Amino acid sequence: MTHRLSTIQMEDFLGFAPIGIYQVNAEGKLVMANPEMAWMMGYESSSAIVEQMNDVASQMFAKDEDAEKFLFQLLEAEQVTGFRCELQRKNGSRFWANSYAKQLQNQDGRPDGFYGFSIDISRIVRIEEKLHQANKELVRIATLDGLTKIANRRKFDDYLVSEWKRSIRERTHISLVLCDIDFFKPYNDNYGHQAGDETLRRVAKCIEKNCRRPADLAARYGGEEFVVVLPGTDVAGAARVAENLRVAVRNLEIPHEHSHAHSCVTISLGVSSTIPEHLSPPETLIEEADNALYHAKEHGRDRFFVHE
Ligand code: GH3
Ligand code: MG
Ligand code: MG
Repeated sequence: MTHRLSTIQMEDFLGFAPIGIYQVNAEGKLVMANPEMAWMMGYESSSAIVEQMNDVASQMFAKDEDAEKFLFQLLEAEQVTGFRCELQRKNGSRFWANSYAKQLQNQDGRPDGFYGFSIDISRIVRIEEKLHQANKELVRIATLDGLTKIANRRKFDDYLVSEWKRSIRERTHISLVLCDIDFFKPYNDNYGHQAGDETLRRVAKCIEKNCRRPADLAARYGGEEFVVVLPGTDVAGAARVAENLRVAVRNLEIPHEHSHAHSCVTISLGVSSTIPEHLSPPETLIEEADNALYHAKEHGRDRFFVHE
């Protein structure tokens, strides 16, 4: 046997519900609202909101297009579930709500208003927004080198793969410049690790600043080595970038008395360039730049070599 709530019990039940419950007539006027609905919408009582809300579409929804969408869905599907939008309080302030509604029908089966629930989810939306921001920050940190604050190895690996694929698709050049600080071990040994770190930071920023095109990426490859990805740049362009970087680092004029290359900190560079073929791996390009770098070291440092 089913048990029906008495009118008094029903009133008590609606008063106790922690979500807004309401009913709207065929003319779009609010005809019933529980205390939570009144409170949520900024009215002093259920009777006050019922008295004052004569047009739900314009008074309850913060945006007209949300009201239209909501009512359209209700008409089409006879019910609306989990409709997320901003509602507006009596004083015009807004809050995020999740709304549900079901169409009511008269004895002839014609639409005759609707009843609905609305739940204040502004706290959840705030937490979601914070989470979204935190995730963005996490992604940013995960791709940055902690010491130099330029892109890290992980970012380089990902970027090289995606630009490599683009070059295959578009049949364009892609170049790499591998940079290595000359005699950096003696630098650390003589000036100390903290000075070494500071020099790494300055060299990193200098390399990053001198990669001017939007698609260029400068990253810390590891230790005192940096790498620059130059999408859409041929070998002559990459050689020019390498020479610019060499001069720019020299012009920092960071004293290095224990270098056999120069009286200041310098870098050696290896350049490689290709129009990648389908199925060829990007690792070859790194190996070639590394070989060229080796030759630059062998030939006296503070210079660049291009892989032939
Ligand atoms: P070369 O001219 O042939 O490149 O010689 P090098 O001394 O620069 O190269 P080597 O590979 O022998 O030494 C690299 C040094 O870089 C070792 C280490 O002292 C230093 N180094 C690597 N990572 C860091 C770092 O994060 N901070 C500091 N301060 N030094 C680092
Ligand atoms: Mg090295
Ligand atoms: Mg070195």
